[in-house]
Amino acid sequence: MTGIKQKPRTVSVLASGIADAELARRGEIAAVFEVAPEGEGTAALRFCRFTTPADAPGRVIDRRGCILTPGFVNAHTHLDLSEIGPRPHDPAGGFVPWVEMVRAQRPATPDAIERAVQRGIALSLAGGVVAVGDILGAPGGRPTTAALRTLADSPLRGVGFVEFFGIGTRADAAIGMLGPLADELAGFNSRTGGRFRAGLQPHAPNTVSLEVYRVCAHLAAARGLPVSTHLAETPEERRFIAEADGPQRAMLERLGIWDDRELAWIGRGRHPVEHLAPVLGGLDGPGGHPFLLAHVNDADDAAIDTIADTGASVVYCPRASAYFGAPGAFGPHRYREMLARGVNVCLGTDSIINLDTPGRISVLDDARLLFHRDGTPARELLAMMTTRGASALGLDPALFRFIPGGPVAGVVATPGHDSGAGGYFGGDDPAEALMAGGSPPELVLGERVAIGLV
Ligand SMILES: [Zn+2]
Repeated sequence: MTGIKQKPRTVSVLASGIADAELARRGEIAAVFEVAPEGEGTAALRFCRFTTPADAPGRVIDRRGCILTPGFVNAHTHLDLSEIGPRPHDPAGGFVPWVEMVRAQRPATPDAIERAVQRGIALSLAGGVVAVGDILGAPGGRPTTAALRTLADSPLRGVGFVEFFGIGTRADAAIGMLGPLADELAGFNSRTGGRFRAGLQPHAPNTVSLEVYRVCAHLAAARGLPVSTHLAETPEERRFIAEADGPQRAMLERLGIWDDRELAWIGRGRHPVEHLAPVLGGLDGPGGHPFLLAHVNDADDAAIDTIADTGASVVYCPRASAYFGAPGAFGPHRYREMLARGVNVCLGTDSIINLDTPGRISVLDDARLLFHRDGTPARELLAMMTTRGASALGLDPALFRFIPGGPVAGVVATPGHDSGAGGYFGGDDPAEALMAGGSPPELVLGERVAIGLV
């Protein structure tokens, strides 16, 4: 089939400052982009150069008063929970009642999942997010790939991690299901060309047996599938792994799936990271991706060393950690020590249920929390929400920078911190102005957003 090749169009975005993980330009500036339609509603977006607003060529989008950044990467989210919306939670009640609320409320049919994921995609774009590590939840405990096509057809890049459970009396069934599932996902990836890939998500060490993790890691390495898991998230998980006891054990017994075979590897005083260490280190090989570990709220020095040595990435979800009371149980999250030890730490939001921004799902709000609470440097936070997230998802980090001549995944404009009081101060560090403010980001150019311009 042949099509009429359309000429690329030039688009200039005017702003009052520009920042990415490596560069900062202060004062009024124009960023020049080339938008090349590719058919099927998509356009390739390329950054060309910076110039002055007076010299801006092509169609001009004026966002003076704003800071321009690359699009954001949300490395851990659950878009299929987006229709549940924000819900209050009392950490004193524990994690299990919350999990049971989600089990009861999550969409169960393909149509309902599709609707929820579409809403999540819209909320992500409203938050300037152009790439996600999305967890495709398992309604009724059965893994589903229903949302993969929706995500792959959306403006988002990234990975859809298909979640599964498999512990106790369900471990053998999970092992039996994993081979065909891994084949299906590898087939999906060979057709989508890498823009949006499928991966596997063993849910967590308290719901997936270590032997099932082993099979999953082996299959993922053989099929080239990315793997993510929740790890070291809650005190209930720590107690379950170390002592084979507590509310997680009680839940498995209540569900009638507890099996004493689990005592071969839990109830031995181990930290959750130590428990998974043999698997985290087992993904070497031609198709092996390092694990993406969600949360790691609970990390001793040995855990940080293990994660660093295995090359796994950590996705820290600051608002989720606060919502579930993790600092009260484990102390402050040790993301800065992880970074110093060489761990790739990026940012995630977890689901809309634990967010305070009903109108968007954005890691910018998590970065802002860390900027205000911890005084973490704005440029480091910008890397955690762009290039580091990209690396964690196996995307090219250069897509999330302004490199002359290079492709970009999206362009976001966000009003500076003092925009309400008469404009952004050009002398400030643009990344700091972004973090200090509270204004919503706007995705002004994206691979599908741009199509309206050409
Ligand atoms: Zn999660």
